[in-house]
Amino acid sequence: MSVEKIDHIGIAVESIEKWLGFYTDVLGLDYTGSEEIEEQKVRVAFLKIGESQIELLEPTSDDSPIAKFIEKRGSGIHHIAVKVDDIDAALARHHEAGAHLIDKEPRTGAHNMRIAFIHPKTSGGVLLELCEEST
Ligand code: ZN
Repeated sequence: MSVEKIDHIGIAVESIEKWLGFYTDVLGLDYTGSEEIEEQKVRVAFLKIGESQIELLEPTSDDSPIAKFIEKRGSGIHHIAVKVDDIDAALARHHEAGAHLIDKEPRTGAHNMRIAFIHPKTSGGVLLELCEEST
């Protein structure tokens, strides 16, 4: 199992529309599209930054985990996503090491990737997302 790169950094915002202009017009990133992930009650927009991306996350309902995050801490960095070549092996290794897994099995995330979250308790306070390109 190998770790390839930081795939993206997830930033929770109240409104993608409100903040997208900063990332495109001021910071100068390319917007590459958005999609709604119903299961997570979130809408995401992606901006390309070199080999990685910034993912803006907007809640689509008041009981969305992103809505709760913003309510508690305000908008800001929500998670860091690490791309691996074998998410099943990565999860097994985390499990063996006693890491607190939010997802014991990978689920489907944006871009149809296989993803799983690792609790911040395990990683020094950062919510980690493991992701693998689905083939
Ligand atoms: Zn993400």
